[in-house]
Amino acid sequence: MEQNSLLNETTESVSLCVKVQQQLQDYIEGYLDAVTAEAVRAHLAVCAMCQRNYRELRQTIRLIETLPFATPGRDYAEAVRAAIKERPNMPWWKWRPPIRWP
Ligand SMILES: [Zn+2]
Repeated sequence: MEQNSLLNETTESVSLCVKVQQQLQDYIEGYLDAVTAEAVRAHLAVCAMCQRNYRELRQTIRLIETLPFATPGRDYAEAVRAAIKERPNMPWWKWRPPIRWP
């Protein structure tokens, strides 16, 4: 009986981790309402696994924010149209990515 309740507790805390991790990006970017943000913050304070994921995600988001914006050149749209015209009715299953194996 005691084992069963322990098992349930573990399952519950794991599903809480899943819920928290689904909210992490919104938490970092400040999109959560105050109550949800506080619940996430409280969970992060006691859960090492979620805290590690939180740090990694925060670092990843910071890195992405440092990347420069890529502006496609003026002839980019024309190049795409030309590439489409080149193979007008090729079925998707015949298409091969332009990779050459050594
Ligand atoms: Zn957790």
